[in-house]
Amino acid sequence: MYLPTYILNIYFSTQIYYFELKFHICRMGCGVPISRSRASTEIDGLSELSLSSKHKNDSGTRTSEVQPSHLRHEVPRRSMEGLEEQIKATIYGQCIGDAIGLLTEFMSKTVVRKHYGKLRELEFSHKVSDGHRDRWDVGDWTDDSDHMILIMQSLTDMRGKVSPVDFAKKLYDWSQKGFVELGDRVGMGLGRTTHEILSQRKYVSNPQETAKDIWIKRGRTDAPNGAVMRTSILGIHEWWDVAKVAKNAAVICQASHYDPRCQASAVAVSVAISIMFQKKKQHYDDKARRYDVKRIITDAYSLASKYVDEETVKPELLWYMSCTDIRSLKLDDEDTMGYTFKCLGAGFWALKQNDFRTAIEQLVREGGDADTNCAVAGALLGCKISTRKAFPETWFSDLANRMWLREQIQRYIDIHNRMYCDALNDQGSRHPLGSQY
Ligand SMILES: [Mg+2]
Repeated sequence: MYLPTYILNIYFSTQIYYFELKFHICRMGCGVPISRSRASTEIDGLSELSLSSKHKNDSGTRTSEVQPSHLRHEVPRRSMEGLEEQIKATIYGQCIGDAIGLLTEFMSKTVVRKHYGKLRELEFSHKVSDGHRDRWDVGDWTDDSDHMILIMQSLTDMRGKVSPVDFAKKLYDWSQKGFVELGDRVGMGLGRTTHEILSQRKYVSNPQETAKDIWIKRGRTDAPNGAVMRTSILGIHEWWDVAKVAKNAAVICQASHYDPRCQASAVAVSVAISIMFQKKKQHYDDKARRYDVKRIITDAYSLASKYVDEETVKPELLWYMSCTDIRSLKLDDEDTMGYTFKCLGAGFWALKQNDFRTAIEQLVREGGDADTNCAVAGALLGCKISTRKAFPETWFSDLANRMWLREQIQRYIDIHNRMYCDALNDQGSRHPLGSQY
């Protein structure tokens, strides 16, 4: 190899390992102070007054049953075909985003440009070889989607019940063995927070208390992205009841990540997904087949902001959800790349886009925690586009373990369809296919 090229390669490889090391120190222990403030961004006249009805619970987070009247519980009627297509688009969107994001995980934008700058379009096969990326096969998704699948499997096995204890047990087993049927020998990619809580003896029997203890022990400042990355399935589950979606997202988040900002992030993403499934006229123009994304963000924020305690955090949450300039997120900043609001910002930025490849590639080229950012972005944008046809053909066909994933999704869809028909029956409007379930 030509000597200057050899020296440059060593330089860039060293940079990646440096970023990875910094990330594991900061990612899951991402100690971004809770008082961090950001310039506030107003969207659609959203008023803080609408958030005034809330109370504190014993964890210091805020919850409320109060929600905008148009979000109150009423089960919308949708075709099973359309629902199943949207479920698949959301889940495949997450896994595809995760897999293509691995190309640049932990890289700075400079390193991204060095490796991928000359490529017009990115494919899984372009993944550079290094000690980090070589741990996954070409086209494979990483721990972000593994954890989302664990929640999906838990919902399926528990016949629709949301159980933090069952999820914790599955997470622990996964950390020991990965998905054995896919040839894993161990769960790869664990962040520091998740690793630490899994090593506590009481974790499997009491995950929420364990997560809370670790959060307090660390000075109540850790707010990494390990919960928001897996939450998309909780926006699908019981999508017809937004209050329940918010509660489910917060409860599963607390099973590993107790910081209010983590909970708000998980609730925001899950609620936005559930609103897109509802397709109510306030959020979806049936004729134009177009979502009102600003309205979705306004309503997702109104529920998510109830989970953050400090007033200074609300403008920060809103700023990240409203972001329209991807560069302003500074996703490759080595000290904050694992911060939950960064991932949230990436996801909601993608929700404002329309073309899957263009949006996800832009995020990939920003570097940082790219697989995690693209997992959330892929789920939100996949849900919005609502069809697998939106994915680049190669990203869909070359996704590793796609047939196994299809089986997992189908098992969940059976439970989902049954619960949806039950919910319609409960309000006296039987679904034409209800007798099948
Ligand atoms: Mg990651």
